[in-house]
Amino acid sequence: MNQKVVLIGLLSLFFLLTSCTREVKTKDEKQKTEIALVIHGGAGYFTSETIPPEKEAEYRKKLNEALITGYNILKDGGSSVEAVEKVIKILENSPLFNAGCGSVMTADKKFELDASIMDGRTLKTGAVTGVSHIKNPIAAARLVMDKSQNVFFSGVGAEQFVVSQGMQLVDSLYFYPDDIRAEIEKKNLEEQDKQNKLNKKKNKKRVSFVEKKTEIEKYGTVGCVALDKDGNLAAGTSTGGLNNKMKGRIGDSPIIGAGTYANNNTCAVSCTGQGEFFIRGVVAYDMSALLEYKGMTLATATNYIINVKLNELGGLGGLIALDKYGNVSMNFNTKGMFRGYITDKGKPEIKIFND
Ligand code: ASP
Repeated sequence: MNQKVVLIGLLSLFFLLTSCTREVKTKDEKQKTEIALVIHGGAGYFTSETIPPEKEAEYRKKLNEALITGYNILKDGGSSVEAVEKVIKILENSPLFNAGCGSVMTADKKFELDASIMDGRTLKTGAVTGVSHIKNPIAAARLVMDKSQNVFFSGVGAEQFVVSQGMQLVDSLYFYPDDIRAEIEKKNLEEQDKQNKLNKKKNKKRVSFVEKKTEIEKYGTVGCVALDKDGNLAAGTSTGGLNNKMKGRIGDSPIIGAGTYANNNTCAVSCTGQGEFFIRGVVAYDMSALLEYKGMTLATATNYIINVKLNELGGLGGLIALDKYGNVSMNFNTKGMFRGYITDKGKPEIKIFND
C-alpha cells in the first residue's frame, strides 16, 4: 500500500515537473533567425486592378517604414512588446489604414476603436474596445497590460484609465481625414454664428461630409507580431472595426485568443477580417493550440486554420503568425492582404496581392 502511495507521489511529481518545463516541439525546431517581425494592414477584396499604382506605392512605403522601425528596435536589443507597440503606432498614425486616425465609422457616424497586445513571455495582455478619443489605442492596450490589474477596458472606462496614467485624449474630430475635418470645423464655426433656420440647412450639409468618409471602401486593420533577441514573442492588433458597424459592436481585434495571441512556447498571431468568425473560431488561440497539442508546424497550422476551418465557418480574412524559431506565416482567403516581414537580414519583404 505504502509503495503504491510513493509510486503515485513520484508519478505526480514527474508530471508536475514536466508540465512546468514543457517545451513544445514541432517539426520546425531549427532556429531560422534571431529576430523577426511580421505586419499586416488588413485583408480584403482588392486586387492590382482596384488599387491604383500611386496608392499601392503609398502603402508599400508605409509598410516599409513600419518594418524598418521594428527591425531597428529588435536589432538594438529592444523587446518584442516594444517593437509591436511602436510599429502599430506608425500604422495607426497613417490614414491609409483602418486603425487610429484612419478608422472607419460606425453606422451612427461615430468612431469606436479597438486594440489589444500580448506578451508571449509572461502571457500578460491588455486590450481596449469602443474608445473614441484615444489617438493610439495600441498604446492604451499596452498601458492596460503594464499598469493595471485587469486586462480589458471598454469605452469611457478605458479612456478614464489611460488619462489616469497620463495619456491625453483627442477630440473625435481627429479621426476624420484632414480635408473633411477642416471642412467640418469651418462649417461648425459658421453654424455657431447663424440663426436656427440657417443652422438646420448647414447641419444637413455637415452630414454629407460625414457620409463622404463612409463611402470610401476601407480595409486595413493593422497587426504586428515580433520575436526579439531574448526569444520572446509578442502580438498586437488595432482597428476601427468593420465599416458601418452597429454602435457597440465589438470584433475580434481586442479579444485575446480571437484576434491576438502570443505564447513563447508556441507562436504569436494577429488576425484581420470578419471578426465575428474569428471570435467563433477562437482563431488566434487555435493557432497556438495546434502547435502545442498537435505538434503542427506554423505553416501547416496557418493553412489549416484559414483554408479549412475559416472556410468551413464561412468567414473571410487572414492572419500573420511567427513562431519561436522565426518561421513566418501570412495567409488569407480574400483576394489580398497588406503584409510584410523582416528577419535578421534586415531586408523588408512586402506583399499586397495574392502572389
Ligand atoms: N477584424 C476586424 C473586426 O472585425 C476588422 C478587420 O480586420 O478588417 O473588427
